[in-house]
Amino acid sequence: MLTRRFLLTAAAAALAAPRQLWAASTLTLGSVQIDTLSDGSLVLPGDFILGGMPQDEMQAIVAKYGLPTDRLTPPCNVTLLRDGTNTVLFDAGSGPDFQPTAGKLLEALSALDLTPEDVTHVLFTHAHPDHLWGLLDDFDEPVFPNAQHMIGQAEFDYWTNPDTVASIGEARTTFAVGAARRLAVIADSVRLLADAEEPIPGIAARLTPGHTPGHLAFEIAGPTPAMVLGDCIGNHHVGFERPDWASGSDQDKNLAAATRVALLDRLTADQHAIIGYHLPGGGIGRAEKADTGYRFVEDL
Ligand SMILES: [Zn+2]
Repeated sequence: MLTRRFLLTAAAAALAAPRQLWAASTLTLGSVQIDTLSDGSLVLPGDFILGGMPQDEMQAIVAKYGLPTDRLTPPCNVTLLRDGTNTVLFDAGSGPDFQPTAGKLLEALSALDLTPEDVTHVLFTHAHPDHLWGLLDDFDEPVFPNAQHMIGQAEFDYWTNPDTVASIGEARTTFAVGAARRLAVIADSVRLLADAEEPIPGIAARLTPGHTPGHLAFEIAGPTPAMVLGDCIGNHHVGFERPDWASGSDQDKNLAAATRVALLDRLTADQHAIIGYHLPGGGIGRAEKADTGYRFVEDL
C-alpha cells in the first residue's frame, strides 16, 4: 500500500531519475487540437496495482514490457483541448501535495505559452489525488480562476458524502479526505454531469464506473472520434492484455473490469483514438485486438 515510508523512499530514488516535464503528444480532429501535457509521473508500489492478479501470468506480461513488478512509475498525461473558443483541461494533475515526481502541469502549460487564466473549462474524470489535487494552489484557491469546473454527479456525491471517509478503508482515507476538502471549495460553482451529457459541444460524458463510483471518460467527436479515458484503462500492459483481471487500483474491481472489457470492445470496433492518463508516450494512441486481449499502439 501507499505508506508514508514507501513514498519517502520512492521520492529519494526519483531525485536521481531524469524528469520529463511535458509530453508534447498531439492529435488534430478537424478544427480541434488536442495535446497532452505531462504532470510528471507517480511512484507506486507494484502491489498497489498488480497485487491481486495471478502472479505468474502477471509477471510474464509485465516482463514483456520491460517493467519491474515491485515498483511502477506511471506517467500522468493531462489532456488539453483547444477548439478556437474553448481551452479545456481534462483533469488538473496532482498539485504540490501528493508526490514530488508529479504536480508539473503548470510548467507544461507554460511551455505551450498558456497561463492558468487561459483555461476555460476543467473536466474531471474522477477525484483521485493525481487527477483532482491540482485544482487548488498553496492558498487553497482554484489554480484555474476563470475555468468552469465539471465532474460526474455520482463522483461528486460519493466523495462529498460524509460517510465515505469512514467506509472507504484505511488505505484510501487520505484520498477521501483530500477529495472532500477540494470539492468543497468548488461546490457552489461546479457543474455536475450525467452520463451522455454534452457539457461542451462535441464533448460527451461517458459513465465508466468501477475505478471510482462515478468515473467519466469523455468522447470527443471528430473524423476519428477520440476517448479521454482517465483511469478506466490504467496501464498499457495488464490493462490491455487482461482487461478482465481485477486491478488493485480499482475501487470496485469487478465493475471496473466489466467497464474495461466493454470499452475495449467498443473502442476497437469504432476505431477510436484513445488518450490515457497513465499510458506511455504522452498517452495518445489506439487499441488493437491481440492474440490475448488487446494491445496499446502509440501511433494512430
Ligand atoms: Zn490516475
